[in-house]
Amino acid sequence: MTDNRKFTLPSVDRLLRNENCEPLLQEYGHDLVRDALREAIAKARNNIVQGGSAPGVTEILELTISGLQVHAVPRLRQIFNLTGTVLHTNLGRSLLPQEAIDAMAMVASQPSNLEFETATGMRGDRDSLLEGLLCELTGAEAATVVNNNAAAVFLVLNSLAQGQQVPVSRGELVEIGGSFRVPDIMSRSGCELVEIGTTNRTHSKDYKQAISDNTALLMKVHTSNYEIQGFTASVSDQNVAKIAFEHQLPFITDLGSGTLVDLRKFGLPYEPTVRESIEHGADLVTFSGDKLLGGPQAGLIVGKKELIKTIKANPLKRALRVDKMTIAALQEVLKLYRNPKQLTQKLPTLRLLARPLVEISEIAELIKPPLESTFGAAYEVDVVDCMSQIGSGSLPVEQLASKAILLKPKKHKGVGKQLQQISAGLRSLPCPVIGRITDDTLVLDVRCLENTTQFLDQLKLLDKLELS
Ligand SMILES: *Cc1c(COP(=O)(O)O)cnc(C)c1O
Repeated sequence: MTDNRKFTLPSVDRLLRNENCEPLLQEYGHDLVRDALREAIAKARNNIVQGGSAPGVTEILELTISGLQVHAVPRLRQIFNLTGTVLHTNLGRSLLPQEAIDAMAMVASQPSNLEFETATGMRGDRDSLLEGLLCELTGAEAATVVNNNAAAVFLVLNSLAQGQQVPVSRGELVEIGGSFRVPDIMSRSGCELVEIGTTNRTHSKDYKQAISDNTALLMKVHTSNYEIQGFTASVSDQNVAKIAFEHQLPFITDLGSGTLVDLRKFGLPYEPTVRESIEHGADLVTFSGDKLLGGPQAGLIVGKKELIKTIKANPLKRALRVDKMTIAALQEVLKLYRNPKQLTQKLPTLRLLARPLVEISEIAELIKPPLESTFGAAYEVDVVDCMSQIGSGSLPVEQLASKAILLKPKKHKGVGKQLQQISAGLRSLPCPVIGRITDDTLVLDVRCLENTTQFLDQLKLLDKLELS
């Protein structure tokens, strides 16, 4: 007997005219619905070929809806960062305080005086909105802001050193996460790098000997993501500043992370502040908005008025400028620095970095039993001491004492595969959980876990998962 049920599948056109399709068309648009219908029909046809029964219109529409829902999940979404790296570049770096989020929403939805002087009715300068605060907090004379710190370094070099030489110590020719390498940025900005000293030792005479008629400036790069130990020597900011001054050259410092307050106040390791760099004689300092500062992605350039003026006159400044939402957020974050005492309450990034160990312990103990009931059959679940990293190339050597949940497969066979499975399961949750695998265990550092209710609520979805 021939089975001709496969010929009874409805056509895409007919389904598109079905009244139950109307709300889908409203929500997703014609093309997406048409494609999802095609996919659903193909699945149905496949099912018939495999010997299954022919689905009716309702079933095909249900298949279509689940197909469309997959498309509707935003590609950029919230995750749980349990990697132990607080400022994780791949996971969005710093988290903004509510004040900044409100300010962003305001300028996003309403007209603002972004480049307009309300007092005079004249055209304004977007940089002037932040310049006062930046000068107040760093002791610099002037300031400007661009897209990120890579852009800041690029713009400074392109504005002040194009076609000229810039001596940099070999110990400072760093790579910061993949695409930012000091030598590459220098050549793209049009200046010639003159490597001086050696990897471990650079002396004042190296700077002096490198200076020629074609030297544009002296630059120091804060080696934020590694540390050279042992037989080392470097020239202090003050001494490079002195040499630069004697040769009438600007001295610029790329601080990388840079912070506006002494982090030791919050029990964190020392990191040079922007004000210190200025006091040590830097004519310009560049640093990131979304590293230790805890603000939006931005590159801040502070220093001498004349130099900032030259930088702002570079046509590339326009290509690298920040948008109004960044300015709004940065303004609010900077304002919080006027009262450093409240920073660990108000700035989420500093709050997580300075989070007391007892609080982290409590979180770990709280989530251990539910994790045990979800994974306990196949995994040993333990709370252990661990070290978190600050991240984003900040303070690589210093680490922060923290607590982690360890998930260790009980079965010794196929440990790697089991760990891949459990991590994939956690990543497949509505709010994906990102941990890290080390030494045959899945490590979930709970330093950055604050919303435990949201975290625990979605665990039940994992019961459905095949956890072998
Ligand atoms: C991080 C860093 C940069 C790049 O900053 P982004 O804000 O990521 O563009 C440049 N220089 C140093 C020393 C850094 O640490």
